[in-house]
Amino acid sequence: MFSRLRVARSLTTKRVLVVGCGAIGSFASLELARAGVGEIALLDFDTVQPGNSLRWPLGRTVWGIGKTSALANFIASNYPWTIARVAEGRLGTAVTEPVNIPRHLHNVLTPVFDELRSADVVVDASASTEVHLALSHYCRRFRVPYVMGYATLGVAGGVVARFLLDSEACFVCLQEHWKEKLIPEPRVDDAGVVIPAGGNAPTFTGGGFDLQEISLEIVRTVVGLLSKGNHDPGRWDLAVLTLKDGGGARMLPHWEGFECPPHPQCCGAAR
Ligand SMILES: [Zn+2]
Repeated sequence: MFSRLRVARSLTTKRVLVVGCGAIGSFASLELARAGVGEIALLDFDTVQPGNSLRWPLGRTVWGIGKTSALANFIASNYPWTIARVAEGRLGTAVTEPVNIPRHLHNVLTPVFDELRSADVVVDASASTEVHLALSHYCRRFRVPYVMGYATLGVAGGVVARFLLDSEACFVCLQEHWKEKLIPEPRVDDAGVVIPAGGNAPTFTGGGFDLQEISLEIVRTVVGLLSKGNHDPGRWDLAVLTLKDGGGARMLPHWEGFECPPHPQCCGAAR
């Protein structure tokens, strides 16, 4: 079965935790299953709405169902070599009602920590800076490779970054480099945001056909990292995607790789 993709054999014993199953994480999860990853845990508290269908892999049959269970069921039905499961825990929102904290937990983050510790790679497609900061921090502490990716407003561009066990820099170092413009930031289209009818939060405009550029680069990175030399993960720390030029005109997808050295005000301070 795996003769068409040699690297699949080296992935069957690997576990990936995908945090955020929106327009990027959903496609990445399915592609990781197709690539042969042995176990995929999915963490997201959102449900599939009709409006998601324009940039989500599954359509009307899963409207109203949790994004994670919809993906896990689809993977179980179609890719039996992958164990897909819904990860317990909730990120990106405050728990303000004590009754919502399960009694057996001393810390609401315990299930998330357990998931992080047991993963071979954590994929962060949450598109939330707060979640990026927290997860990259805990992955570093628990010594788990961390791969994150997101699109900018209007999908003018995007980022896929990795912070690995031997990385000297962290996610905060990258923010510091961006602040000083030492590493180029992905392009942003400020007009690319909308509050959908019936929605209470703004979202960005853009098609799944553009967002999947980022999902695919996440998958290529993760497959490379898990394959123990059977698939080249590339040698960059950060990949920056450009889809629109400075005037807003469409470009052919352009990826550029950068190294992220430790920043003197962060991980480079003690050197
Ligand atoms: Zn740092």
